[in-house]
Amino acid sequence: MKKILAFLSILFLPFLFFGCSTTDIVTRASETANTYEIVATLDNENKTLSASMTLSYTNQSASTFEFIYFHLHPNAFSEGASTNYAVSQTQAERAYDNGVSYGGIEILSAKQNGEDTNFSVEGADDHLLKVDLSNALKSGDMTEIEIDFQLTIPNVNHRFGYGKHTINLGNWYPSVCVFEGEEWNTEGYLPSGDPFYNQIANYVVTLTYDSSLTLASSGELQSSTTENGKTTDVYQALAIRDFAMVLSSEFDVISTQVDDVTINYFYFEDENAQAHLQTAVDALETFNDLIGEYPYNVLNVVKACFLHGGMEYSNLVYISDQVTNEAEYNNVIIHEIAHQWWYGVVGNNQIKYGFIDEGLAEYSTALFYDLNEEYGQTTSEVIGNALSSYLLFCDVYGEVYGNLDSSMNRPISTFNTETEYVYLTYVKGVLMFDSIAEVIGQSKMEKCLQALYEKYAMQEITPTQMIETFSKTSGRKIESYIASWLDGTVILEELSA
Ligand SMILES: [Zn+2]
Repeated sequence: MKKILAFLSILFLPFLFFGCSTTDIVTRASETANTYEIVATLDNENKTLSASMTLSYTNQSASTFEFIYFHLHPNAFSEGASTNYAVSQTQAERAYDNGVSYGGIEILSAKQNGEDTNFSVEGADDHLLKVDLSNALKSGDMTEIEIDFQLTIPNVNHRFGYGKHTINLGNWYPSVCVFEGEEWNTEGYLPSGDPFYNQIANYVVTLTYDSSLTLASSGELQSSTTENGKTTDVYQALAIRDFAMVLSSEFDVISTQVDDVTINYFYFEDENAQAHLQTAVDALETFNDLIGEYPYNVLNVVKACFLHGGMEYSNLVYISDQVTNEAEYNNVIIHEIAHQWWYGVVGNNQIKYGFIDEGLAEYSTALFYDLNEEYGQTTSEVIGNALSSYLLFCDVYGEVYGNLDSSMNRPISTFNTETEYVYLTYVKGVLMFDSIAEVIGQSKMEKCLQALYEKYAMQEITPTQMIETFSKTSGRKIESYIASWLDGTVILEELSA
């Protein structure tokens, strides 16, 4: 009830975005989205979590389903996992403080509409759960799937794992696979890239945990009770892409408000906490103006034990405690917040088209610097650095491995190394968007970003849809130009001449 009142009051705000209020985007998307309800208890001492999850799922395809697939991402951390293992050898040092540690997910039971149903754990590394539907699910019909599961949280500085300071719960629950093109997207975890592809869903998550811990969570807190040293929080989120939580006994929290959005910074060991909160404010305000209004009421920036620089989840981003350079720490905050627009609101299949959200997040980050001079970098310096490091990478790669496949439009699994993936997705990505801006003009480029956000909010885009939007919005026939970047035929040396 409280929630509905809050929405109504926002509807009366005079400022309307794309002809309707931003909250309308969330409300409208939530009406057709699936809903996860999860009740979970964290055992901090044993680093386990037991949970019961109910997914209200609507078959939005034309097919009839006799089963539904779920990703079991935590099994990428299990002993014996190979094909889909979450940590590569080169990452092991950053990942493990105390030697290799394993975790995973055990499925205890599955029900459809309250009745026990058969299920099987499948895939190369038990990375999939197949739940049989005793009653076939016809197009347009809704069913309730209930899954009880138990997590073992590994001692690893990763999306799912615990480190010296934080317990990270990212990609922790069975998430329903996307069904499109008459098939289920069942790809497993990979150590490179963000190997996830989720659609927008609603969440109500209840977590019971030791009161000595502080919880940072996606969504908005609905209620909190404490009894016998245990706290039970209920969080709700409408129309978000994934639901993550981080806990720590060491968290301090500082908060501020930007219009309707509360920004919280959860941190430990940070002498510049206030400045980092300000970076988050600057990023949110900049991208609100540049791309379109952030449609949610909360954004959590969370310092976490994490092997990469940062990680984006809806309403919540990890910033790695392994980033010790001040400028880089700020850069990670800006990049991860840019992902709230690119992947969070405008989604894409990150396994097939990682360059879309990473390229757009990097490009938005580059634009941030000209709009916020106090950060001491210009956009052209960022682009110049990207170009020289890309060319250096090509030279070195050529010497070590021979010919480089410089095409971008291909799945994560086709890149030979993490470095190759990073250069062709992030670095070449930012160079491509900057180059498109050179061709069509900066103000048209900004209109293209806004058009993408307006047209595909709460959906998932393909490269074709992205290119179409750019061509239509700019009024220029740039399809073959963008295609030449994606297929690798554009010669970057010419840009540096
Ligand atoms: Zn990113």
